[in-house]
Amino acid sequence: MTAPQRKLFVTTALPYANAPFHIGHIMEYTQADIWVRYQRMRGHEVHFVCADDAHGAPIMLKAEAEGITPQALVAGIAAGRPQYLDGFHIHFDNWHSTDSAENVELSQDIYVRLRDAGFIDRKVIEQFFDPVKSMFLPDRYIKGECPRCGAKDQYGDNCESCGAVYAPTELKNPYSALSGATPVIKQSEHFFFRLSDPRCVEFLRGWTQGERLQPQIANKANEWLESGDGLADWDISRDEPYFGIPIPDAPGKYFYVWLDAPIGYLASLKNHFHKLGGDMAAFLADKQTEQIHFIGKDIVYFHCLFWPAMLHFAGKPYKVPDNVFVHGFMTVSGEKMSKSRGTGISPLRYLELGMNAEWMRYYIAAKLNANVEDVDFTSEDFLARVNSDLIGKYVNIASRCAGFVTKRFGGQVSTDFGDDGAALLASIAAASGPVGDFLEGREYSKAIREIMALADRTNEYVNANAPWELAKLAGREADLHRVCSVALNAFVRLTRMLAPVMPAVAGKVARLLNCDFSRWDDTRLLATINPYEHLMTRVDPKQLEALFPPPENIPPAAPEQPQRHSQHQTHEAVEEAKKADDFEPFISIDDFGKVDLRIAKIVSAEHVEGAAKLLKLQLDIGEPKPRQVFAGIKSAYDPATLVGRMTVMVANLAPRKMKFGMSEGMVLAASDDSGTTPGLFILSPDSGATPGMRVK
Ligand SMILES: [Zn+2]
Repeated sequence: MTAPQRKLFVTTALPYANAPFHIGHIMEYTQADIWVRYQRMRGHEVHFVCADDAHGAPIMLKAEAEGITPQALVAGIAAGRPQYLDGFHIHFDNWHSTDSAENVELSQDIYVRLRDAGFIDRKVIEQFFDPVKSMFLPDRYIKGECPRCGAKDQYGDNCESCGAVYAPTELKNPYSALSGATPVIKQSEHFFFRLSDPRCVEFLRGWTQGERLQPQIANKANEWLESGDGLADWDISRDEPYFGIPIPDAPGKYFYVWLDAPIGYLASLKNHFHKLGGDMAAFLADKQTEQIHFIGKDIVYFHCLFWPAMLHFAGKPYKVPDNVFVHGFMTVSGEKMSKSRGTGISPLRYLELGMNAEWMRYYIAAKLNANVEDVDFTSEDFLARVNSDLIGKYVNIASRCAGFVTKRFGGQVSTDFGDDGAALLASIAAASGPVGDFLEGREYSKAIREIMALADRTNEYVNANAPWELAKLAGREADLHRVCSVALNAFVRLTRMLAPVMPAVAGKVARLLNCDFSRWDDTRLLATINPYEHLMTRVDPKQLEALFPPPENIPPAAPEQPQRHSQHQTHEAVEEAKKADDFEPFISIDDFGKVDLRIAKIVSAEHVEGAAKLLKLQLDIGEPKPRQVFAGIKSAYDPATLVGRMTVMVANLAPRKMKFGMSEGMVLAASDDSGTTPGLFILSPDSGATPGMRVK
């Protein structure tokens, strides 16, 4: 009997598009990807989408500091996403951006519906304004002396020295972190979503209770709802200049990034349905459709109060979330991850070291449960779980038995299992129900524990029957065949339960043993198999040493930023534009590794009309098309002398739109800033270097 098919719309939180992924993103996506793969194996229809969260002041200011458009900044970050997602076998059906036509349409539509239903207020507020930058300053861009303890250089919302929380207008001697100017207080009309409206409160009292949220999240929501002060209205507008979506009929006003970010879930779904040729509105209106969000514990307020209230009062076809599944953070050896202390795990470095992505997926699964708890990574634990459990228990079964079947029995798997073998296989088959329930309930650690207990029993069966001994004895062919056939069928059943966690290993097993793992309830037995190949290597402890920078490469500790509302903070965090000459005393090898230096052949060089300092270069770095780079070397080089020369370029600098066209990289040149030796000197590699070679 099969249960009716579910229709699932599943999302993960949108990452802010000012930086590459960190390991916390990989953990959340892995949690959701495992869940989605399990649902697909059960035959359910799933639409699993995400998008870059592209708007807001930090991105606008960072782009300005880099001399590129916010769109170019976001495009550069988006271009880097697939290597992480593909690398960790995270398969979204669609990846979109909040800076998209769909999101403009949906955000404005939801806003207009809320406005017409009486949920939008306008209030004049007083805010700090930077007279040099001509913009209102978000709290995190204002610094000054703490009004309580007098500590200098504190942010506009709280003091890192004494922990006081205050309004930015209370700071003593405030200054703009952007220009250094003394800000002035200026009035502006802001738009507010009336979360305090009795209709909202009543709706949320119902929505937050029941099975929809984890108990600790429902309790938290209840605290917010029933606190004496009630819910505060939410400021959803920002004044220009702002990189965001214009508010209809309100010139110079934009939606605050947090308004349009969750609507990005729907924008990505709409874009996905457009590609499929389907109708998102009809899908959302379908009573069977379930809308499910995986998020971190720092953004519960947005997802469990603002978001459902917005959707509910916007009306059909919008629907409120059916579940919000909240997880904790990933810590390393018990500490919050911190780049400055060198305790973070760089997902890209992990992949570049040749570490197997499924070790990490397995490890995350083995540690995750349905509670809002942090997941702690330690090297010892990782080694033990991967080498002892995953390889030593699970992979070991196939590696000890498959060879006999191919070498001695022509790859034919027996269907004679004997009583003990049949009992073992039946017990594994019976576990498929409970293990499935654990996956459904995101109790992954319990699922893994159960699977490893079954692997233990299978190994006990193999050890008790010792096929390697049977292979040496005359007349024991049938026993050898039976034992190995039982073990391989057991292995396939274990692989089916691990397939959502380790899709690449499952794919390899399917090819080697001629089976498939597309269905959870598939009970077919093996028939013939192919010669065994290694499924997975062990973790080399040296790889783990290399994953964490050694102490001498760790730069001096910088003060930590407060951790509350980390995603919120990412939006509002100060991107302090560092001057090019402010060198760090040390950088880590990770930092250096981010720069992709390539040998480039200058295939053409020409003057640029109207440019005093620039030459336009075409650089061959072994790609199908040469890169166009504008280099400020006109004062030192005659273009004709450059053609055919080899030099060194930065190949992964975000493309920059200049007055004269796109510049797709940077050529390195030496100069003496003291002026003792005037001139510019481009670099040349030793002879023999060819275009595209990496410089490291
Ligand atoms: Zn203070």
